[in-house]
Amino acid sequence: MKAAIYSGLNQIAVQQVPDPVIADPYEVIIKVHTCSVCGSDLRIFHHGNPRVKPPQVIGHEVAGEVVAVGKDVKHLQPGDRVAVGADVPCGECHWCREGLGNNCQINYAIGYQFHGGYAELMPLNATTVRFGPVHKIPDDLSYEVAAIAEPLACVINGLEMSYIKLGDTVTVIGAGPAGIMMMKLARSFGASRVIGVQRSRGRIPEALRLSGADHIVCSQDGDPVEMVRELTNGEGSDVVITANSSVETHLQSLKMARQRGRINYFGGLPAGSPNVEMPTNLIHYKELLVTGSHGSVPRQHRIALDLLARGVIDGKALITHRFPLNEIETAFATAEGHSGLKVVVSPTGESEC
Ligand SMILES: [Zn+2]
Ligand SMILES: [Zn+2]
Repeated sequence: MKAAIYSGLNQIAVQQVPDPVIADPYEVIIKVHTCSVCGSDLRIFHHGNPRVKPPQVIGHEVAGEVVAVGKDVKHLQPGDRVAVGADVPCGECHWCREGLGNNCQINYAIGYQFHGGYAELMPLNATTVRFGPVHKIPDDLSYEVAAIAEPLACVINGLEMSYIKLGDTVTVIGAGPAGIMMMKLARSFGASRVIGVQRSRGRIPEALRLSGADHIVCSQDGDPVEMVRELTNGEGSDVVITANSSVETHLQSLKMARQRGRINYFGGLPAGSPNVEMPTNLIHYKELLVTGSHGSVPRQHRIALDLLARGVIDGKALITHRFPLNEIETAFATAEGHSGLKVVVSPTGESEC
């Protein structure tokens, strides 16, 4: 089969490699139809990650068709259409047994320690098949939209950790694909008013349309903290979520929040980013609740697929670029260029829209 092999910093190339074979009674092999590009793929590509040992196939926003199953796999069979998320619970540690697999002690993930989706075929090992986010795709959902269930699951995790209450104003910093989904879904969590903050001006009209936000302010127009305050009668936002990888927004979000506000650091920062000097007295006097969130658990991946199938989130509208596997470097550069939203790679070479 053809697979995009990540062999070290800034190096990825499509190569012919042996097809995977079923080596364990609980394994499954899927034919990958879609693997969408995530900001964390780009971080691995440029900065590496201690959990990724090259050579490795990366990519973790995956949808495909089951083509082979081990003899003890009862719940999947060849022909099934499945979506696969990223974080794989080990199934045995304290956190996994509590249903908090994204906080697993071992922290396995597809496209990190485990074979990823930028390949024609992808083996799912026994741990992934038994405990991981592997779910059948609802009939009317395309592979490329189903792949978006992975980032949407992370968005659901971030929103659950933001403790939104009915009637809240929710501000999301960063109007990329995750930020747009966050703004849209914040309404379902009870937000009555949604504000976005975005640096690149060109993205704002489309982000407004897709997210249904009340306002999206451009941070190049002035101090985003002041802009959010102005939109909230000088009080600040009930909830602020960072959906980007910019260090300064971690501090801005504390200032943007109102008294008793809740802040969620959703977007990860590149390895080696400087620490933010944290004005802890601001947290003290404003009685702020600051949380983080990362990844998702299988439950959230299942819910995400359902929300996409029911049109609560319009996944198709988020997809702006499609590339065959051979053009993976162009796909990465396109995702990095922020000219569009979701960039998908199709190892089967077929486009579905
Ligand atoms: Zn992702
Ligand atoms: Zn675990």
